[in-house]
Amino acid sequence: MAVPKKKHSKMRRDRRRSHLALKPSSPVTCSHCKQPMVAHRVCANCGYYAGVEVKPPEE
Ligand SMILES: [Zn+2]
Repeated sequence: MAVPKKKHSKMRRDRRRSHLALKPSSPVTCSHCKQPMVAHRVCANCGYYAGVEVKPPEE
C-alpha cells in the first residue's frame, strides 16, 4: 500500500475539507395539504406520500 511521504499541513487538510460541509435541505410544499415538508418523506402534517395516505396524521 502506498504511504504518504510527508505529513500534510493542517492548512492543506482544512482546505481539502472546505468543500465537505452539508447544505441544509430546502423544504418542499406538500401536494396534499400545501404545508412545508421534507422531500422524499411521508408528510408529517397529513401523512400522505405520492398522493396516497400512508399514515394517519398524529393528534
Ligand atoms: Zn401534507
